[in-house]
This record gives sequence, C-alpha cells and structure tokens, in this order.
Amino acid sequence: MEIAELVASKVLDVPDFPKPGIVFKDLMPLFADGPAFAAAIDAIIAVQGVDSFDVVAGIEARGFVVAAAIAYATGRGVVPIRKAGKLPRDTVSASYALEYGEATLEVHADAFMAGERVLLVDDVLATGGTAAATLGLIEQAGGRVSGFSVVLELSFLDGRSRLAPRPVHALLTV
Ligand code: AMP
Repeated sequence: MEIAELVASKVLDVPDFPKPGIVFKDLMPLFADGPAFAAAIDAIIAVQGVDSFDVVAGIEARGFVVAAAIAYATGRGVVPIRKAGKLPRDTVSASYALEYGEATLEVHADAFMAGERVLLVDDVLATGGTAAATLGLIEQAGGRVSGFSVVLELSFLDGRSRLAPRPVHALLTV
C-alpha cells in the first residue's frame, strides 16, 4: 500500500471539534497501529534523508510523538517546541495570531548549537501559522531548519504558500 493511502486509512475525521465548522483530523489510529506508525516514520526519514539533520524538533503536543520516533530511529536527539509557560529555563518565544486571539510557542534558549540542522515535524499543517512561528523560533534560538515534514496537510488552507519558498513535505495531502 502507498504511504498516503495507508495514512488515509488511519485518519479519522471528527466534525465540529474543537468547535463548530472545524473538521478535526485525528491521527490517533495511525499512532496506535505499530506497523502503520513505523511506516509513516520511515517514510518521513526516507524523504528528508537520514544525513540531512542533527536533531528533531516537534511541536506540542502531537508533534512530540512524531519527533521522538524519528529521533530514536535515527539516533538523534529531540527538542520539544512548547506552549508558553511550560519550559523551566531561559526561553526564546514567538507569538502568532489564531482565529481568535494569539498563541505563543517557546523553546529553551540553549536548545540548539549554532547552525545545528533541525528537522521540524508536526502532525497536521493547516493555515501554516504554527509552523511559520516555529521556523522563526528555531532560527532565533540558533538552529537552522533543514526540513519540515507533517503527516497530513490540509491543502485548502494553503499553509504551504505561507511557508514558501521553504519546502513542505506531507505524507498525505487532502
Ligand atoms: P495551523 O497553525 O493553522 O497550521 O495549525 C496547525 C496546528 O494546529 C497543528 O499543530 C495541528 O496539530 C493543529 N490543527 C489545526 N487544524 C487541525 C485539524 N483540522 N485537525 C487536527 N489538527 C489541527
């Protein structure tokens, strides 16, 4: 089975979550299926290239699942990109607009060595606001983003163009 087809078979659409009008893409069935999860992780590593990154960064919270698996499989470390107020030491932060209000993401100021190559991953790319803020955050902290992968991309929200010219890799685009 093609990886996109496999991912599609393991995603559940949840209408009106977390609020009316949003169709939430639930990847828990993919994460819960050992062989399918391993195939998804291996496919991301194959596309990005095992020698293209020094460390893997994941966006809270479902991005942690993907990032930790890639990091373990490739012998790299993992850096969590966290919501505001969760990290105990000095941080750098980036705020971005949500549909209503604002969100802030943080990373420890010493999370990356200067010029370290960072593979950034998340579960879903929607408007791209989260990813755009995170890319800036990693660079502010001294890292260099070598690639960005998501499991699933919602193409109608065009997050990809918001991140241009940076390439976005998605296992499944819907
Ligand atoms: P955005 O900043 O709009 O690209 O939103 C991306 C972040 O919100 C990711 O961390 C996703 O986990 C989450 N997200 C946004 N829309 C959805 C959706 N329809 N289903 C699941 N997660 C979503």
